Amino acid sequence: MPESLSLNGLLEKVRSYSPEKDLGLLKRAYHFSREAHCSQKRGEGSPYIKHPLAVASILADIKMDVASISAGLLHDTIEDTRTTMEELKDLFGSEIAFIVTSLTKLSKVEFRTKKEAQAENFRKMLLAMSEDVRVILIKFADRLHNMRTLQFLPENKQQRIASETLEIYAPLANRLGIGWLRTELEDLSFKYIMPDLYDELQRKVAKRKEEQEGYIREVISLIEQKLREQGLPGKVTGRIKHLYGIYQKMQKQRITFDQVHDVIGLRILTDSKANCYAILGLIHSLWTPIPGRFKDYIGVPKSNLYQSLHTTVIGPKGERVEFQIRTEEMHRIAEEGIASHWKYKESGIIDEKSSKYISWLRDLVQVQKDVPDAMDFLEAVKGEVVPEVVYVFTPKGEIKEMPLGATPVDLAYSIHTQVGHRCVGAKINGKIVPLRYKLRNGDTVEIITSQTHGPSRDWLKFVVTQRAKTRIKQWIKAEERAQSVELGIRLLEAELRKHNMSNALMKSDEILGAARALGMNSLEDLYVAVGFGKMSPHQVVNRLMPEKAVEEEPVRPRRPVKEQKGVSIKGIDNVLYHTAKCCYPVPGDALAGFVTIGKGVTIHRKDCPNLERLALEEARLVDVDWQASADANAYARLFVETVDRPGILANLSALISSLNININHLEATSTQEKQGHITFIIEVKDSTQLKGLIHKISQMEGILRVKR
Ligand code: MN
Repeated sequence: MPESLSLNGLLEKVRSYSPEKDLGLLKRAYHFSREAHCSQKRGEGSPYIKHPLAVASILADIKMDVASISAGLLHDTIEDTRTTMEELKDLFGSEIAFIVTSLTKLSKVEFRTKKEAQAENFRKMLLAMSEDVRVILIKFADRLHNMRTLQFLPENKQQRIASETLEIYAPLANRLGIGWLRTELEDLSFKYIMPDLYDELQRKVAKRKEEQEGYIREVISLIEQKLREQGLPGKVTGRIKHLYGIYQKMQKQRITFDQVHDVIGLRILTDSKANCYAILGLIHSLWTPIPGRFKDYIGVPKSNLYQSLHTTVIGPKGERVEFQIRTEEMHRIAEEGIASHWKYKESGIIDEKSSKYISWLRDLVQVQKDVPDAMDFLEAVKGEVVPEVVYVFTPKGEIKEMPLGATPVDLAYSIHTQVGHRCVGAKINGKIVPLRYKLRNGDTVEIITSQTHGPSRDWLKFVVTQRAKTRIKQWIKAEERAQSVELGIRLLEAELRKHNMSNALMKSDEILGAARALGMNSLEDLYVAVGFGKMSPHQVVNRLMPEKAVEEEPVRPRRPVKEQKGVSIKGIDNVLYHTAKCCYPVPGDALAGFVTIGKGVTIHRKDCPNLERLALEEARLVDVDWQASADANAYARLFVETVDRPGILANLSALISSLNININHLEATSTQEKQGHITFIIEVKDSTQLKGLIHKISQMEGILRVKR
């Protein structure tokens, strides 16, 4: 490391993998940064420039492009010096200015607590990262150098930074497939959070290594010989599990250090997938594999694209040995992950694997974008980054890895968006289960689909994957938009009729002009605005009114008033109409609709006392025609006053049920005047059925009054 901690060292490093690059930009960034930070010192008393230089050097180690390394040199300039974004833009271009700004903390005065400030800064960075992935890679390098030099900070800061690293940055590095970074961040955090345990494990691992060194060397040379005999290419190395990994294993399986068998393992790198399996076969033919310890991450890669075969065997002298077998390419992915691809090799072309990481990041950020609270955002991200998993099977026997708590709906969306949208049910091991069923290890899951179904808003209450959440929300949004368009058209047509204007206006240039004048980009946007209640149809028609519109067509016969039927809400899905909970209207009542922003039409009874207040905004009131339908009931509310006598409630309930009317909710109280007050919420077809019921109740003995 030290030899690179000079500008020349850095330039040399970059030249080693990017010989043709013009490094002038790097040099300018270095000199600018050194100048800007010249009066500052790091915690240990060395000139501040050592920090950005070290960050840049880490970025060069992972072979990042020159722009990233320059941004690494400049990453603290806006935050810690008088440099402005405009200045960076002028000197280094908007790309670098964007990255540096994204890494600049928001001013502390805006937040109540430190935690809140951190969460908000993290959110800002993640959002920026979804636009340019290099933001997170530079943040990683920054964090890594800070962790490597943590000993110079006061203890409370050490603890805070180490826990944040362990909770967020290490899991994120893991999820993005950068294996080496994850292990280094974990071990560095571990060292500061639990120093005693760290020291103890370090001692024990060293001792184990000493004890096993000879044995491991023996096994390696034996394997190498066998590989040669079989003509299988393979490089065999010993590998030591990192300390935090050992600690986690002990915690999770409740075992002592002595019971951890894979502290030292062997790794074999070969050239092809086929040879991975051939080598596995060779090992299993030499020694007995331990059941349950074979894992095929080549057939079923981990969500961070990790691929390898793992197996543990009873090796020579009866000692357990763990093997990891993978190709060189798989090894590169396991170590470098997203960073292995983020090089401007061919003018920023991103390969398929890299785009998987990126789309995961975008999915993650997309859904959380609208979460107003930064702390919630942070929690959601944590939950998504460190998922525990279950393995389930498709009916064809394919294995799927799903996060713990995932439901058949999550699985359906992981197969394909359309499978998710059309999902109506699921069979687990042949039995029908509810869609909210939580998948268990080993379940065989069959998704039942129907062409005529779409997702329901309720699904959002139980799905756990970002993918499912995003897709469901997108579908609902599109659906609501379609319904708003339909409703908007109807409302506008009704308004035109009210003013005796021609329906042909709906397709005219005039209405497009009116839409534009009202700030809409298209007619569809106009319909949506009206359908959602953001704009009244009256406002739109007013724009069209200037006498002209009416005068131009004087000979067209006016529609007779009788034909002005008003708006029918028939056929509009229940997403867009709601019945008011103040008056519980049912089909057959005299009705009025009220367009509510974002909710479509709320239906009230004409005699609802609330309507008067709402009617002040006359423009939003619509007439509705509501037909009873065979398969949908409406909720109605009944107040019943009775004499306070045992059994009367039971009789009432029995009467209602005998008419095949469902009681949804019931509340009963008795008053001091020895009266019973009962409120029912029931499901009825229409006002006729309801009237019949009211009549029957009023005939019962002991009933004083029935009303809606
Ligand atoms: Mn920094």
